[in-house]
Amino acid sequence: MNTRKNGAAIWLILLLLIGAIWAVNVAMTSPAQKPADLGLSTFISEVQSGKVQQIVVEDNKIYGLLKDGSRFTTYLPAPPSDQSLSDWVSRGIEVRVQAPRSSSMLTSILIPILIIGVLFAVFWYLSRGSRAGDGGGAFGFTKSRAKVLAESPKTSFKDVAGAEEAKEELGEIVEFLKSPERFHRMGARIPRGVLLVGPPGSGKTHIARAVAGEARVPFIAASGSDFVEMFVGVGAARVRDLFETAKKNSPCIIFIDEIDAVGRKRGGSFGGGNDEREQTLNQLLVEMDGFDKETSVIIMAATNRPDVLDPALLRPGRFDRQVSIDAPDIRGREQILRIHAVGKPLAEDVDLALVARRTPGFVGADLENLLNEAALLAARERRRKITMKDLEEAADRVTMGPAKKSMVFSEADKRITAYHEAGHALAAHYLKHADGVHKITIMPRGRALGFMMPEREDVLHWTKKRLLDQIAVALAGRASEELVFDDVTTGAENDFRQATELAWRMITEWGMHPEFGQVAYQERQDTYLGGHEVRRYSEHTAHLIDEAVRKLIDEQYERITTLLKDKKAELERVAEALLEVETLNAQQFISVLNGEPLAGGDKDPDKKKDATQVIPKAKIRGEAGLGGA
Ligand code: ADP
Ligand code: MG
Ligand code: ZN
Repeated sequence: MNTRKNGAAIWLILLLLIGAIWAVNVAMTSPAQKPADLGLSTFISEVQSGKVQQIVVEDNKIYGLLKDGSRFTTYLPAPPSDQSLSDWVSRGIEVRVQAPRSSSMLTSILIPILIIGVLFAVFWYLSRGSRAGDGGGAFGFTKSRAKVLAESPKTSFKDVAGAEEAKEELGEIVEFLKSPERFHRMGARIPRGVLLVGPPGSGKTHIARAVAGEARVPFIAASGSDFVEMFVGVGAARVRDLFETAKKNSPCIIFIDEIDAVGRKRGGSFGGGNDEREQTLNQLLVEMDGFDKETSVIIMAATNRPDVLDPALLRPGRFDRQVSIDAPDIRGREQILRIHAVGKPLAEDVDLALVARRTPGFVGADLENLLNEAALLAARERRRKITMKDLEEAADRVTMGPAKKSMVFSEADKRITAYHEAGHALAAHYLKHADGVHKITIMPRGRALGFMMPEREDVLHWTKKRLLDQIAVALAGRASEELVFDDVTTGAENDFRQATELAWRMITEWGMHPEFGQVAYQERQDTYLGGHEVRRYSEHTAHLIDEAVRKLIDEQYERITTLLKDKKAELERVAEALLEVETLNAQQFISVLNGEPLAGGDKDPDKKKDATQVIPKAKIRGEAGLGGA
């Protein structure tokens, strides 16, 4: 134990010394050597061509070192965003951010003092005596990973736009962290873990920081991948350390980004499991269970793949609360743009509402990036203000750029999608046995150009009437296209698959077709290699089944077309409203149907009601949605 520890100590000291020499070198020699002053565009192209080795950021000034050994400086229009910083890091550039120095004399004194201080701290720490348990030797390495912000982050809910539902849901957590005693006295069980689910860049990390900022508690951040190490036991030790730190700082928030890196389902992998990951996950579960009631630590985690998480993580007392952070709608996008436009000089002609309209599918990170690109463009041309043209150009860049695959909609695409989704929604609303409408949107997400999310009740038994209505709802998108445009698109592929599957199973598995009787023609065998069907019918029957499926679907298509013809005026109203605001919630949908003006935006009472309830997991995973445009 002791030798391992000494080994670690020596390594640490060596590393620190090397770091110190480097730091002093960069800090003291860069101004002295009169580095070349690169223009902004040269700087960007140097970064992109991978020639830059180190970057030291000081406010909006950049000191850099090229791989060929030469030094340079660059001035940015504004201090670089986190986005740019992480972009540089991901390109393998060593990035360091330092506070602006008032005089270089000060730094040349401060830096050595700091280094000595850090060395001192390390010595003090190592001399505190050995820790019990395995992984102790590696423990020194765990310290540097989780980022502890001793003070709470400065981010607050004001900095988060377009995520009203999520903010309201997290409000309860804020209240708890602010005065935990109040809740403890009542014996209330506070959610231990909150899982933030949403696409990359939608602001999961951002909102987690805002929760800590609002509650003014420390924010202890780690990434799932921090725990995934080659050496068995290291990850588990890090988890232990993380929770130890948290307990010392209680009340506080632990934030685990990309939790799927550790939290994947266990035992599923073939060819030898991943012992290290399983140990880490087990440790995480143990720690989450190990809190006593009095500890006021909330664990927030983020993922865009909730479906791969181990079910044990989602059990009560662990991450039993899920909050979905969706890509923002048009209003949200405008608000996000406003937030990030602060401090950027905008020309008179800039209309952020218009930019928001042009950018469906953009998440918060994209919008921030868009504004930054626009600022860079304006700065490159030495203009004083960012114009609408810069913003348009930047939007193209962000969209078409290699990193971004989100689609831009043409107006025609948007119209078709609007009518398609409106068709689904009307079917869901008017058919007696179908689920109502929870939300409709023409915002692209994943492969779908829009979707209608039914207000689905959980039932154990599906009745035949409900199944037929369900098939009709699935077909309604295409029926609407045909009715309105007298032409059809490829967008209904997924709907057809869903309708066909239901029809097929009604006949072959559920005994719901008079001509086929109550015979199980096929059986599903679910193995862990994926389900497959076992046929129990002759070629002759196969032929009959095909015909019956076809007939059943045709009938439902007829039925829904008739209904939509009847309700053409309503169909048009809903589609036009979608073109206007992109997303309608249940209440807005009803008022549009009735020809009333749209219930006002973010503050309508319906959302308040929604916000207090836990979102069922199925909805988050999108299983309930009728995708495909
Ligand atoms: P995620 O963690 O979901 O991948 P981040 O939280 O890292 O996304 O978001 C990236 C950046 O995008 C944030 O730093 C923030 O500046 C910006 N951003 C994202 N969503 C929002 C929002 N709703 N309001 C304001 N800014 C946002
Ligand atoms: Mg994140
Ligand atoms: Zn559809």
